[in-house]
Amino acid sequence: MKKVLAFDIDQTLNVAKTPITDDIANLLVQCLDHFEICPISGQKFDQFLIQIVDRLPNPTEEQLSHLHLFVAQGTQYYRHENGEWKQVYNYPLTDEQVAKITKTIETAAKELGFWEEDKLKPGDEIIENRLSQVTFSALGQKAGTEEKYAWDPDHKKREQIVARCKEISPEFEYEIGGTTSINAITPGMNKVFGMTHLLEELNVTKDDILYFGDMTQPGGNDYPVVEMGIDTITVRNHEDTAFALRGILGVIG
Ligand SMILES: [Mg+2]
Repeated sequence: MKKVLAFDIDQTLNVAKTPITDDIANLLVQCLDHFEICPISGQKFDQFLIQIVDRLPNPTEEQLSHLHLFVAQGTQYYRHENGEWKQVYNYPLTDEQVAKITKTIETAAKELGFWEEDKLKPGDEIIENRLSQVTFSALGQKAGTEEKYAWDPDHKKREQIVARCKEISPEFEYEIGGTTSINAITPGMNKVFGMTHLLEELNVTKDDILYFGDMTQPGGNDYPVVEMGIDTITVRNHEDTAFALRGILGVIG
């Protein structure tokens, strides 16, 4: 039997950038009794708390000890110990790398006419330094979900931006994720990095893991996990994930 259930977050556990539903929260807590649970996503630590941890209904210390947060594509790892979250490791980008990536994405988006600064909410930003990666969110972090869905449903805008970024600064990798996002990282600092460290930290093998993601197609931010040879379930949304988790919990009774 699998020992680890690993999950992409955006569109896999939730509606992108929003807290998980009661249904997913209940299923995850049940799963914590049987598996190590590892969300891995490009998002920041505080969003892992807001979107997942704070939504879990009365988890015990024992259950939380089986929850492993692989933040910023697993370039940061947090574990729950003695009643609090502890950062186990962190591999940040350098200031120079952050500056170069930021300039590259801004240039590409502006050239292509996809720099939507006028649509931002007050205090919001298009490009965010997430320490281990730099993330472009076309409409900012605070835009409404519907607005985000409508912006680039077929990924075509982001594919153009990524193609241009690769011309300007080929030394970085650019991945399409969420609904309006592009994550820029140094080569190898993608989910393979996170999953490789997960194997070490949890002392498991690839065969022990079942991974859930919505962007498992080539170029998607879950594809590196597929390429590693980890068993993957492709979902369209959190409802698919809930369906699969019900099946898994049903089998183990
Ligand atoms: Mg996703």
